[in-house]
Amino acid sequence: MIPITPLALVEKSLSGLPLSDAEALAVLNNADWDVMDILYAAYQVRKATWGKQVSIHIINNAQNGYCPEDCKYCVQAKTSTADIESYTLKEESEIMAEAKSAYESGAHRYCMVFSGRGPSKNRVEKLAGYIQKIKAQYPIEVCVSSGLLDAEGAKTLKAAGLDRLNHNLNTSESHYKNICTTHTYQDRLDTLQAGKSAGLGLCSGMILGMGESHADILNVARSLAAVDAVSIPINFLIPVEGAVLKSEQVLTPEHCLRVLCLFRFLNPKAEIRAAAGRELHLRQLQVLALYPANSLFMQGYLNTQGDSAFQTLQMIHDAGFDIASDQQLDKLVEKFRAVSSETEKSVPSRADQVVLKQLNDLRPARTPLGAR
Ligand code: SF4
Repeated sequence: MIPITPLALVEKSLSGLPLSDAEALAVLNNADWDVMDILYAAYQVRKATWGKQVSIHIINNAQNGYCPEDCKYCVQAKTSTADIESYTLKEESEIMAEAKSAYESGAHRYCMVFSGRGPSKNRVEKLAGYIQKIKAQYPIEVCVSSGLLDAEGAKTLKAAGLDRLNHNLNTSESHYKNICTTHTYQDRLDTLQAGKSAGLGLCSGMILGMGESHADILNVARSLAAVDAVSIPINFLIPVEGAVLKSEQVLTPEHCLRVLCLFRFLNPKAEIRAAAGRELHLRQLQVLALYPANSLFMQGYLNTQGDSAFQTLQMIHDAGFDIASDQQLDKLVEKFRAVSSETEKSVPSRADQVVLKQLNDLRPARTPLGAR
């Protein structure tokens, strides 16, 4: 039998042929496959759809904390004792100011995230109003992460102009009960189905580092291909003090890169995002994530800091990639270089520590620093 090689996966992936389990698992665990060879192969697949473009996402915690669910990885869960800044739904003016800032920072998509099990009918109407206003004022795509959503809610948000619905599978069906007991994997799949039926693009991904096996990772990658997820954020568990799950397993940079490549091979046309925790777990190798992935978050995550806008944009620029934006990358790098030199002393090193966001990070539109 001819041995499989990373390059042999490129043609299969690009022609939409399914990879066998043996081929897919080899991406994760074949020690004879050099990670650079896997990255090169995954890059061929990434380039076919996305060229050298990177899409930047900026997250806005539209509501933070106060969640009755018990997702063990989440610092907003009722079971978490993490010292986060909790607040109820932001006012429309605050959300509009943050959408404007995201657009002017080069973001291709603005993500509004709401803590909680899922929105009431009234909350859906309110969200629909926010979406309509943002879409009328800025040429930016809008994504909402609002928890469990039914078919009617999904239709209302679609009619308001929503582009994408985020709802992560997070892990495999068989591992799900180990990370959450207040809702099920099937609840999550139902929400994705409601979004898909309403015509919304689906954004759904996983969190690595929660004790999952290679088979669990493969299962999630295949499940997301089956629901036609157009956007797949791969998060790397950030060990926050007070969260129930902290460090279930060591995530090496090589493992993280191999996982990104696997998702790329199995979801050749999807937007694959090196999401929360990339700085912490990929460390000096994080630029290599751009070869399988074509998307990054900028300015941190839900409740933790990440690389600054300057660090992220400069990394993309230095590696010879460009951003999907009507803003120019080199101009943005210069703009944020100036801001960064003013605030440098207050920017902690992200590579070896977890830093929680403060209120002025979460609600920048309300503070003089954020209003810059
Ligand atoms: S992930 Fe969402 S539903 Fe789960 S605890 Fe966090 S905010 Fe609540």
